[in-house]
Amino acid sequence: MAMINCPECNNSVSDAAYKCPTCGVQLRKAKRGFFGKLFKWSFIGFNALMLFWAIAGFNTATKDIGALTGAEQAGAAIGTGIGMAMVLTVWVLGAIILGMFVLFTRPKVA
Ligand SMILES: [Zn+2]
Repeated sequence: MAMINCPECNNSVSDAAYKCPTCGVQLRKAKRGFFGKLFKWSFIGFNALMLFWAIAGFNTATKDIGALTGAEQAGAAIGTGIGMAMVLTVWVLGAIILGMFVLFTRPKVA
């Protein structure tokens, strides 16, 4: 464990410290742990997946709409509406839950 000099107060500080114990200046950024990284990337991946799902679902539902009869069109529109509402609900709930995990696994500055 090497000692460095604090850029603020010039006291010698361990290079493993996140903060200077004398003046409290932040010396380096805390890194996310394994789970922190895992949840962060799950969160990003989840949002990308939901976006892809929403776009793919919307494209599939509207692609052949011109070839359908009036009743079928109405059915497809309702189906799309329910599907989109489901995707949005899952998206929002998932984002909140994963977002909370991302928050809880944030690096702690000791
Ligand atoms: Zn200091």
